[in-house]
Amino acid sequence: MKRIGILTSGGDAPGMNAAIRAVTRCAIYNGMSVVGVNRGYQGLIDGDMIDMTSRTVGDIIQRAGTILRSARSQEFMTEAGRRKALDQMVKRGIDGLVVIGGDGTFRGARALVDMGAPAVGIPATIDNDIALTDYSLGFDTAVNTALDAITKIRDTASSHGRSNVIEVMGRDTGHLALAAGVAGGAEYILIPEAPYDLDAICEGIRAGYKRGKTHSIIVVAEGVGGYHSPEELYHESIGFKIGDAVQERTGLETRVTVLGYIQRGGAPTARDRLLATMFGCKAVELLMEGQAARVVGVVGEEIKVFDIDEVAATRKKVDMDLYRLAVLLSKV
Ligand code: ATP
Repeated sequence: MKRIGILTSGGDAPGMNAAIRAVTRCAIYNGMSVVGVNRGYQGLIDGDMIDMTSRTVGDIIQRAGTILRSARSQEFMTEAGRRKALDQMVKRGIDGLVVIGGDGTFRGARALVDMGAPAVGIPATIDNDIALTDYSLGFDTAVNTALDAITKIRDTASSHGRSNVIEVMGRDTGHLALAAGVAGGAEYILIPEAPYDLDAICEGIRAGYKRGKTHSIIVVAEGVGGYHSPEELYHESIGFKIGDAVQERTGLETRVTVLGYIQRGGAPTARDRLLATMFGCKAVELLMEGQAARVVGVVGEEIKVFDIDEVAATRKKVDMDLYRLAVLLSKV
């Protein structure tokens, strides 16, 4: 392995840059050269690449987003597109690839491996729904961003005795809503994985005020109610629907905040930077060992290596024990 390529694909997540930095510097330290591929698999097809040096990745550890940019590539979903990508790899002398992204990105990597190109994945998504690893890059930062917002809203909610609905990201999964909601002490947390009863919630809110609560906070994942596509989510905010219903049924003044894309930005937390650094160096190590079709991850405090097919086959399930704990805490 003399020359490795690196790309970011799918949704961006804080910590991607820190991973790009770690991959680049670990590879250079080990005597290899590194090619940065712009715009994910589409850039691989188009030959949109730059030579990476230690300096290229200077001053990026603290920045969210990805200096290599990201894209979704329909062309890469076709055999002809992947053939072009492979030709570019051969032309540029790229012996192996590190791909940073979600399960779609890993399926793409698997397809490349099947055509003879070694590839290793680094999980990155604020949804934290990638199987087998406890954490994906960006999740911790997004949770802390949402938590910061919940804490601020809590201040003003208490002053006015208002009810507040806070909509967070999570089209298909409630990992982010659950973590931020529990840490933020939300009264109710609505996630796509669990049914909810608005009557019971409104009843609970009224009872809470009778017990002396000065506010109520409901954290809602954007995918609750079955909205999935970005277009649907743009036009149909579940947060406002829940807010309207709560106001109507409880008579309490209710405010709705949709956190949206601020959850994708912001300086990555220490945890995300540490993980990105360890993931990046592990990915380089795997390529040097001649391994392919692997994804790095973390279980407990240990860096682990998984089979790419196992990771791509399923989604990480929400911690329903934590969800039940949140429900229990809202009862008293
Ligand atoms: P996120 O979950 O944050 O959206 P992701 O990595 O799952 O990230 P996708 O858009 O699903 O994002 O995948 C990224 C890219 O990977 C796609 O645009 C496509 O080019 C490639 N890809 C996805 N699935 C496959 C597949 N089955 N075969 C080949 N390439 C694929």
